[in-house]
Amino acid sequence: MSGIVIDGKTGLLGLLGNPVEHSVSPVLHAALAMKNHDNYAYLAFRVEKEQLKAAVEGAYALGAKGLNVTVPYKKDVMNYLCEIDKKAEIIGAVNTLVRTEHGYKGYNTDMPGLYRAMCYDGVSLEGKNVVVIGAGGVANAVMGMLFEENVKKILILNRTKEKAKQLAEHFLAAYPGGERTVTAASYEEDYLAVMDEMSQDTDGTGHMAQGWLAIQATSLGMSPKTDEAAIENDAFYDRISCGYDLIFNPYETKFMKLVKEHGGISYNGLRMLLFQGIYAYELWNDISIPDEWAADVLQQMKKALGI
Ligand code: NAP
Repeated sequence: MSGIVIDGKTGLLGLLGNPVEHSVSPVLHAALAMKNHDNYAYLAFRVEKEQLKAAVEGAYALGAKGLNVTVPYKKDVMNYLCEIDKKAEIIGAVNTLVRTEHGYKGYNTDMPGLYRAMCYDGVSLEGKNVVVIGAGGVANAVMGMLFEENVKKILILNRTKEKAKQLAEHFLAAYPGGERTVTAASYEEDYLAVMDEMSQDTDGTGHMAQGWLAIQATSLGMSPKTDEAAIENDAFYDRISCGYDLIFNPYETKFMKLVKEHGGISYNGLRMLLFQGIYAYELWNDISIPDEWAADVLQQMKKALGI
């Protein structure tokens, strides 16, 4: 890869978060800029909480065309934008800022990024029962996708049941109508019975044939604590035909191994990270990135991550 040439016309893109040093987003966006022959520099900025407003305003004053926002500012940054996309508002988090005449408009590209990653991996949501493990920040983007795609049966499992319940109620209120069953439970409850009950066909022909899709949205199993999984119950994994972990470090998590050991197929979150970035780049430049580029960019991300 030949290096980026910085000159007087180089445009600024960047990432606001804390910490940011580990981020692979600069590699992702440099690769996209190179492929699209754009003259950008994408820099990661470590920002202190009390400097977030100044950072957003400063980036705007400096002419930055777009920014990504990561942990812990995806919510706080919403206070400093001129407009927020409707879906991002429902999700309650913004990870992409797009320059407008009056300030930055906020979007959430985690949600469509996850969907595009699943399509890329050949994972279909159609007719699926989905169990979401976790009810933290990213679980909101997962729920947004499931509601947008009209998934009919969703079970949210979380250590803190109240958070799972709130998540279910929030999305049911945001998407009124539609025949959906959204249930919340903690790991202590008999969630297997809940799953089996939800799996009954409405026409009374017995259990659903396809098995469940599980989306792992907790931080458990992330490096360095790679031997952890939120659920280790064999009977749970017997019911899972496909497991999608949003974690990408390690490349194969304990959750993914458990899914595989019980005959399912599993994926990690690296393609979600890739496609949330591709969406952001598309928004900044009002272009469509061809899927053929995704594989090349993914390779560069893997190289940067040492996998
Ligand atoms: P978060 O808001 O901090 O939520 C953490 C979740 O993990 C909560 O559901 C929490 O349960 C659960 N949890 C944490 N420690 C636990 C423990 N010891 N036992 C049981 N449950 C525990 O984090 P987040 O922003 O949603 O991120 C979650 C994961 O998604 C992270 O690993 C992150 O790297 C990944 N992610 C990936 C992408 C991607 O592009 N691939 C994007 C965003 C996030 P409680 O509610 O009970 O505390």
